Amino acid sequence: MIHHSEKSILVVGSLAFDDLEMPTGTFKDVIGGAATYSAIASSLLAPVRLVGVVGADFPQAMLDDLGKRGVDTKGVERQAGKTFRWHGRYSSDLASRETLDTQLNVFADFRPKIPKEFAASPLVMLGNIHPALQLEVLKQVERPQLVVADTMNFWIQGEPKTLAELLPKVDVLVINDEEVRELAGVHNLRRAAEEVRRRGPKALIVKRGEHGALLFDAQGVFFVPAYPLEEVCDPTGAGDSFAGGLLGYLASHDHTEPHALRRAMFFASAMGSFCVEGIGPRRLLSITKRDLRSRLDQFLAMVEYGGDLPFRE
Ligand code: AMP
Repeated sequence: MIHHSEKSILVVGSLAFDDLEMPTGTFKDVIGGAATYSAIASSLLAPVRLVGVVGADFPQAMLDDLGKRGVDTKGVERQAGKTFRWHGRYSSDLASRETLDTQLNVFADFRPKIPKEFAASPLVMLGNIHPALQLEVLKQVERPQLVVADTMNFWIQGEPKTLAELLPKVDVLVINDEEVRELAGVHNLRRAAEEVRRRGPKALIVKRGEHGALLFDAQGVFFVPAYPLEEVCDPTGAGDSFAGGLLGYLASHDHTEPHALRRAMFFASAMGSFCVEGIGPRRLLSITKRDLRSRLDQFLAMVEYGGDLPFRE
């Protein structure tokens, strides 16, 4: 895919092999990783620059495929040893999952090195890695116009100080509801969001899986639904695809206009919904701009109610 006028997105994070235990069966050696999902989702709309590490076992064909989609993989180091591996098991309703095993392998000593050619990337996606490494990435880039970041409970509990240092440098923090509550130490989502925004991020997006996502920013609260699918296949990577869709939109449109983030939320939710339709990134890799257009139209139909909401006062 060739992109002309769009801004580039720098994506940093994990590339992985996932072993997935689903109610429908077990899938081994599925290509995964947060950065992989984000890069694939973003690449439908804008050029992507990927930074991460893989082992000797990671298929070159996958990196070549990413290249064909407009993902520059120059920043993906290949090291002797094994690729990061995650083993997860989903509940029968796919609403929750447990991590059975995490093997860091070559990811254990990962220190992101941003190639010189990537340093001026206008948009940056800091995937879920150690907040100290997320800070290191920011030190290596020149004043990005927009920084989006993800994190998880592990870092919220284990690295609160480093995370506190990162938050003021983040424009949009994209995490799930449990993580927001944990980070803020407040149960009420609205109050928790306010507390998190007080610590730095201009905007906070709270992912709520099949219940959609909420955006909290200076303008107030905004909601985007999740697309109600008839069949969910594999939720792995939905959050990362959501972030990828968000950035893809922001990179290919004026991200400073007042409704940009609100519009971007629909692209994000659409990408999350495509992701869960297939095992691993399979479905996400197959979608076209037409598929995206059609899903966006379905979203609009879902929230179209024919004008205002009149009632007799
Ligand atoms: P998500 O479903 O959006 O939370 O992302 C799932 C992806 O994150 C999987 O493909 C995993 O390979 C990757 N992953 C799982 N645990 C970690 C971790 N501790 N650090 C980085 N990536 C991870």
